[in-house]
Amino acid sequence: MNAPESVMVVAGTRPEFVKLAPVVDALERSDRFETLLVHSGQHYDELLSERLRESVSLPDPDVHLGVGSASHAEQTGRLITAIGELLEEHEPTYTVAQGDTNTVLAAAIAASKRPTTFCHVEAGLRSGDREMPEETNRVLADHVEGLSFAPTEEAAENLRNEGVTEDVYVTGNTVVDACRDNLAEARDSSDVLDRFGVRPEEYVVATIHRPRNVDDPARLRRIVSALEDAPVPVIFPAHPRTEEALRRAGHGSGGSLRVVDPLEYLDFLRLLDGATAVVTDSGGVQEEASLLSVPCLTVRPNTERPETVEAGVNVLVEPDAIGGELRSLVYDPDRRAAMTGARDLYGDGRAGERIVRLLAHRLDHEEPELDADAVEEVVESPAE
Ligand code: UDP
Repeated sequence: MNAPESVMVVAGTRPEFVKLAPVVDALERSDRFETLLVHSGQHYDELLSERLRESVSLPDPDVHLGVGSASHAEQTGRLITAIGELLEEHEPTYTVAQGDTNTVLAAAIAASKRPTTFCHVEAGLRSGDREMPEETNRVLADHVEGLSFAPTEEAAENLRNEGVTEDVYVTGNTVVDACRDNLAEARDSSDVLDRFGVRPEEYVVATIHRPRNVDDPARLRRIVSALEDAPVPVIFPAHPRTEEALRRAGHGSGGSLRVVDPLEYLDFLRLLDGATAVVTDSGGVQEEASLLSVPCLTVRPNTERPETVEAGVNVLVEPDAIGGELRSLVYDPDRRAAMTGARDLYGDGRAGERIVRLLAHRLDHEEPELDADAVEEVVESPAE
């Protein structure tokens, strides 16, 4: 057996910790690789960073870049420099990043200048909305040469339509792995419903943090008043930027709305799992809602997760439509049932293992097979 190959995994925000934890776990179960985990520091709030990372069992980072808050340009620029220096020092065979943040953009650009293969997890998502910085980040990261791990056939098709045809693999989304790894424990051990005094199927969850919703005070007010007037309690774990915008505008808990701190992953999974519906502008939460059969109202004009809308489990809404949609979901069980039942949009929960298998096969210059049984040849099964 040759010495293990080095893989640098770069993560720095809440969704990256959730979705890269299964990849890091699979890397650590393979004797082909050793992992260098780099925390960019893009999320630095304790609840979104250290507490969240620990709650998804992602190991302590080997390197913490501590980039912190800055303009998009400054943050991305500093990260390109810092990641570039790490690549020069460690010379990893692979550099892995996930999603659409400034961290992934910086990792992609830095990797493109070095002899390492850039690997984009969750490649090929497209909202078509260039007003969102995430769309630019994901398009640019996808066009850096390397391996594209697309979560769905549709995402792979998006890449092909843009001329990215080499080394595109449909792996499923690691969000399913994370959910599979944590849901049983969340159901067993989380007391989050008791803490908030709610009963299963008798409350709604809300998460809103995109600039379009949060930075426009009039739009934020319309969202808040719809949640205040909801027919059941609404538990709203507010992202720090949302919390600040709410405070500035004089909003807080009131009526049906209860604003709380961001939750650890197991608590959030349990809360979402028991909800009548979720009101969100998050990407990952749209996916998790479909997995957990929770009807989803997405407060955006578009989504890079169109399969959820096509499957009928997610509806795009303007703020003024939230109230009517929530009343219909709370009072009409048929409507609620009609917005569930698409649990398999994102794969079989083995995306992390499949990605690591692909990395191994590439070292051996072999054509990979991606069915679930074959995955186990490279990655040991997790201990039961
Ligand atoms: N999440 C969490 N605690 C919370 C809210 C969300 O653990 O209080 C998780 C959620 O389960 C999902 C991820 O955070 O996996 C989504 O992150 P976010 O909405 O910040 O980012 P996006 O997916 O929109 O990029």
